Amino acid sequence: MQLDHDRQVSSFDIFTAYDAGADQVLSFGGVELDDLTKLVHGAIFTRRGEDLKNSAIFISGTSVSTAEAMLKMICEQIFFGDRRVSIMADPNGSNTTAAAAVIKIKRAVTLQNKRSVILAGTGPVGIRAAALLARENNQVILTSRRLDKAQSACKAIKDRFNLDVQPMEITGESTLKQALDGTHIVLAVGAAGYELLPEDLWVNNPTIEVVADTNAVPPFGIGGIESIDDGAVRHQKIVFGALGIGNLKNALHRSCVARLFERHDLVLDIEEIYQLGNSLQYI
Ligand code: NAP
Repeated sequence: MQLDHDRQVSSFDIFTAYDAGADQVLSFGGVELDDLTKLVHGAIFTRRGEDLKNSAIFISGTSVSTAEAMLKMICEQIFFGDRRVSIMADPNGSNTTAAAAVIKIKRAVTLQNKRSVILAGTGPVGIRAAALLARENNQVILTSRRLDKAQSACKAIKDRFNLDVQPMEITGESTLKQALDGTHIVLAVGAAGYELLPEDLWVNNPTIEVVADTNAVPPFGIGGIESIDDGAVRHQKIVFGALGIGNLKNALHRSCVARLFERHDLVLDIEEIYQLGNSLQYI
């Protein structure tokens, strides 16, 4: 059962559920918190015992905070005792995409005690990726075109994960150069179709080891890379493009959905999705 707070449900998540082996996807759009009890009761009272694992809930939608509130309400107020089914939250693909990006980077270089810059990190993917990198003992800088947006994204990370990420405003080339100074990892997670980092600003940087980008729509977030780059070496840096990251994202997404049907009490949020991604074979 797909529960989406947007009126138009995420079709990507429906296709992926079928690819993951679901027999039937029941999609509900425009779902509000007040609707959850009735919808979830339908899933937990129609089956018993072992049969409960034949149903699962997937929370989609574009707002991470709304999806998180839905997950919390279902797990803490609606499920009770053994009356529960497995549930996963992946609003706007943020959990699976951020996990895949960070896993790709982690497989390429040592993360500990490095400095990362998350360019345009104020969106769902950026906030999750910044938190995952900070958990890996990275010093993380999260940038935005506006300092107050970067600050509120960092506060959201502190509130949710108790991790410190440094906000930074990028207003042009000089602040961008400042952000890159002494940086080892650059992850661009800006809106589709906008270049955030031109090629000439990273190719000769002496400290940068990895550049990665999740934007699959040209112009890509980082100039001078291809979306299919998947650990390619360009200008002595390891490079990941959106489709290179997307291969692992899609495999992880499918794997998570498939796991939901192995038991009836699994909860897959960012931490569990990242852990599961780390256990996947190299993709
Ligand atoms: P988002 O919320 O749409 O955008 C992220 C940030 O981009 C915004 O918060 C904004 O930051 C900045 N931005 C918006 N318009 C901009 C502009 N004109 N110029 C410069 N910056 C701009 O992104 P998201 O949902 O987190 O997704 C991040 C990226 O990952 C997107 O490109 C998305 O398409 C992609 N994606 C890829 C996959 C995959 O498998 N590869 C899966 C899901 C998503 P400020 O306003 O704070 O500057």
